[in-house]
Amino acid sequence: MKRTIEKKLNNLLKLQIIDSNIYEIKKVRGALPEEVQDLEDELIGYNTRQEKYNDEINNLQQDIEDFKNKVVNANKLIKKYKDQQMNVRNNREFDAIAKEIELQELDSKIFQKKSNENEIKIEEIKGEIKVTKKIIKEKTEILKSKKNDLDVLSSESKVEEDKLVKEKIKASKRVENSLLLGYEKLVERQRNGLAVVKVKRNACGGCFNIVPPQRQTEIKEKKKIILCEYCGRIFADVIAEQIKKKPIKRTKKISKAKK
Ligand SMILES: [Zn+2]
Repeated sequence: MKRTIEKKLNNLLKLQIIDSNIYEIKKVRGALPEEVQDLEDELIGYNTRQEKYNDEINNLQQDIEDFKNKVVNANKLIKKYKDQQMNVRNNREFDAIAKEIELQELDSKIFQKKSNENEIKIEEIKGEIKVTKKIIKEKTEILKSKKNDLDVLSSESKVEEDKLVKEKIKASKRVENSLLLGYEKLVERQRNGLAVVKVKRNACGGCFNIVPPQRQTEIKEKKKIILCEYCGRIFADVIAEQIKKKPIKRTKKISKAKK
């Protein structure tokens, strides 16, 4: 029993070391990948905005055409009515036509006004487009430079990272599925990517809370997998304390002797 648990813990620890190395590589890249992603998303947003502005302008322009046609029609009618007014037979007819003319003049004014309003709106949108264009240009520049930085950093560590990823796959196969799943979850949850730790100076190597002596003994025994009661990390071992105790004979040799 002890040997299987010990083996499991050793395999986990190997996996953890590989993962920690990958973690360090990623840390060097820092927030760059995220920043690049954010900028790309932002730019998509700004470009969509630009398209919407153009659509709006098109719609407004179509409406302007429409309004202008209506003005032309109204003016035609006004002219027609005025001609008719010349040939009326009585005052009643004259007044009726005068009313029609008045209505058409009102329409003509309204449509002209609407057309002008649309022209103003279009100018406003063109202003917005200009501002957005400038933002897009600036953000694109920043994106370009950040992408470049990221490429340089990535290519520098690429070989190393590829190697580690391959090692990780191999090391993962040596850990049973359920344990691997728990481990992966822990790695994800912990800020420093540490899931498997050793007890160091009587404290958890992950969260630095004190681990009581009795528990340390259990951890050393490796009869079962023991988790930190504070952070949930897996304890792989206890690093022997180098304090002035009587030197005990059994230290490192034990694991080798067992094999
Ligand atoms: Zn802990």
